Amino acid sequence: MTSPELESVTAPLWDIAIVGAGPAGAMAAYLLAEQKLNVLLLDQAAFPRHKACGGCLNHRTLELLNQCGLSDLTAQLGAKPLQRLVVAVGTRPAAIEIPQGRSVSRERFDFALIEAAQKRGAVFLAQAKASLQNPDEHFARIQVRIENKPCEVRAKMVLVSDGLAGDALRQLPGYSSNTAEDSLIGLYASLAPGSFADEPGTIYMACAQSGYAGLVRREDERIEIAAAVLPAVLKASTPAACVRLIFEEAGLAIPAGLSRAVWLGTAALHRTRRILSGRRFFVLGDASGFVEPFTGEGIYWALLQARELVDLLQSQQFNWKPALIEKWQRKNFKLMEPRKKLCHFISALLRWKTLRSLMVEMIRRSPWLVRPLIRWIHGPASPERSIRSFHRACL
Ligand SMILES: Cc1cc2nc3c(=O)[nH]c(=O)nc-3n(C[C@H](O)[C@H](O)[C@H](O)COP(=O)(O)OP(=O)(O)OC[C@H]3O[C@@H](n4cnc5c(N)ncnc54)[C@H](O)[C@@H]3O)c2cc1C
Repeated sequence: MTSPELESVTAPLWDIAIVGAGPAGAMAAYLLAEQKLNVLLLDQAAFPRHKACGGCLNHRTLELLNQCGLSDLTAQLGAKPLQRLVVAVGTRPAAIEIPQGRSVSRERFDFALIEAAQKRGAVFLAQAKASLQNPDEHFARIQVRIENKPCEVRAKMVLVSDGLAGDALRQLPGYSSNTAEDSLIGLYASLAPGSFADEPGTIYMACAQSGYAGLVRREDERIEIAAAVLPAVLKASTPAACVRLIFEEAGLAIPAGLSRAVWLGTAALHRTRRILSGRRFFVLGDASGFVEPFTGEGIYWALLQARELVDLLQSQQFNWKPALIEKWQRKNFKLMEPRKKLCHFISALLRWKTLRSLMVEMIRRSPWLVRPLIRWIHGPASPERSIRSFHRACL
């Protein structure tokens, strides 16, 4: 990926600057560049970069990529098809069919989305840590550190998609996020091919008292493990030992090479951010608040928010108006609240041993009871469906 000249980044007044080039930011850049806007996408990391994530794209994510003109993207990356979920809690595991999804490493997926945005004309700058400043009357200001040198970027509007632990808003008082007290911590490792005797097309979820772990095979046959664990357990142990314990307690075979693996950790997984927009900026993706990733929808949420925000800006011909602050706040709440609540509810249920066992027993004996829930989470469906349609689907 070639870097643009520094001056070509700092001199223009950008229509939109985007901080964070994960799925939310890269998708927004792709859609905005399609509208022939002058778009700058910034990320503090060097790409391709690792991200603590299972890399499972559910059916809805694939539908959304399709609708945005990216139907070939996952096939080009060699993403593996997924059609089954196995849940293990210590009793006999339960298997359930899921609408077709795909697994792909985040290194390749995120990089491919950025390249798609660049092809449409967005300018991408990696290794650029950004921090929003108080806006001028006519434009937003971002302080960017490039090669350890501070410089200023100006844009008519800024999208903040800096993820779970992002701090791009740290210099604007009143816009910080809060961590939930009972939050789990995320862990991730990529294991050598053949480390686990998996059935092709299957996601394995191991649930235990200290947390849960998901396992899936990715496009290059490596085995991805992503887990969410209690901070107290992690503090007293190592990531490999925590994940081993979860697999043991859940009754699944222990993947080989756990202690040799390089483990990535995350910040606390359950975060809320009350205010999602301000003068000339909007927050989206994990940066707008996140719950534990048990339902595996985070990438879908990020892409959906990107598309919905671009639609909202388009309705104002991409001109900044103060009314957009309230509009994004309300739209985002309607879009995300039911999904986050459901994910949080399921994660909370899993902390109780008896409820975990009951859930698995229910999947084994009466899978038809769980199918509406799976359909609501994974699709296929129109993205605007609300929690009411979930209730209808259950009836
Ligand atoms: C353990 C775990 C497993 C998961 N498994 C799945 C799964 O299987 N399927 C799924 O759909 N979701 C999963 N998720 C959720 C998913 O990873 C996230 O929801 C998704 O990455 C959100 O995308 P995003 O673009 O909002 O943020 P991110 O992907 O986190 O991107 C944010 C970007 O912002 C950059 N950044 C941060 N601060 C700055 C700054 N100041 N300046 C410039 N750049 C900055 C970062 O470098 C990063 O590249 C999982 C999450 C966890 C923790």
